[in-house]
Amino acid sequence: MTNGAERGRFAPSPSGRMHLGNLFTSLLAWLSAKSAGGQVVLRIEDLDAGRCTRACADQLEEDYCALGLFWDEGGSAGGPDGSYYQSRRGARYAAALETLREKGLVYPCFCTRAQLHAASAPHREDGQTIYPGTCRALTPDQAAERAETRPPADRLRVPDREIAFEDGHLGPYAEYLARDCGDFLLRRSDGLWAYQLAVVVDDAAMQVTQVVRGSDLLASTPRQLYLYELLGLTPPKFYHVPLLLSPDGRRLSKRDGDLSLDVLLSQSTPKELIGKLGYLAGLNPSARPRTPESLLAEFDWQRIPKENIFVPTGLFF
Ligand code: GLU
Repeated sequence: MTNGAERGRFAPSPSGRMHLGNLFTSLLAWLSAKSAGGQVVLRIEDLDAGRCTRACADQLEEDYCALGLFWDEGGSAGGPDGSYYQSRRGARYAAALETLREKGLVYPCFCTRAQLHAASAPHREDGQTIYPGTCRALTPDQAAERAETRPPADRLRVPDREIAFEDGHLGPYAEYLARDCGDFLLRRSDGLWAYQLAVVVDDAAMQVTQVVRGSDLLASTPRQLYLYELLGLTPPKFYHVPLLLSPDGRRLSKRDGDLSLDVLLSQSTPKELIGKLGYLAGLNPSARPRTPESLLAEFDWQRIPKENIFVPTGLFF
């Protein structure tokens, strides 16, 4: 164990160049762990081989270093937990799936994407469909027969109860899993591990004590907490941070190519970028250039906005 010290993490998906929004979240993750005298782990979330590349992962490391966001364990250097690339950690996810299967909580699902849509399943606010339970009651014989024509996905049976937690930044949050989420995927029919399972297995194995990430993942947290409970693992503390919005109110995304680091770093120095992000975070009194270290003394969750943040015109673009 880590002597009670805080362990934060960067968990980027290497599907493109780092973006202003990812950088904002990473800066806060780094400040939160380091201001508590803790460490930061770098885990590369490259499960989706079709979208993620090693070149992008290497570029992410270069970008973090250029910005002064140094990590203590993981990334290409690896560490005590072996490979820190999710694409190479499948055996751990398979073991967790087996544990859940032994509890009788996993069932094969043969639904196609089209069938899920046609089932007119209700949608969550975040646009995801709530699984209507089509394959929940298949008998072993029925499942075996269907498996002859289509490989199944694996789904977790969720309980009819509320999962509540206290977010370190946003306060209380709860979901009724059966109503708000439905039985969720652990592994897709093509073998791809689901984010929800991988992130829990990895944060626990890497002894992460605090997860700082975008508030778009707040609604994933109850599912993850349920997995921690089932797997007998200790959950970290969660801090969900506001998203950055363009002046017209859109969420900044990888599609905003002008906000990717290659363009930003061709127009500003790393210190200028960190200073501006520190300003948006309420930690830097003006947009003047800063290093991450110089913001440590000012870091305080109370100062970070809770609402999504409009990036004023002219600050970066
Ligand atoms: N890999 C995810 C991303 O890049 C982050 C997942 C997490 O922080 O739990 O958005």
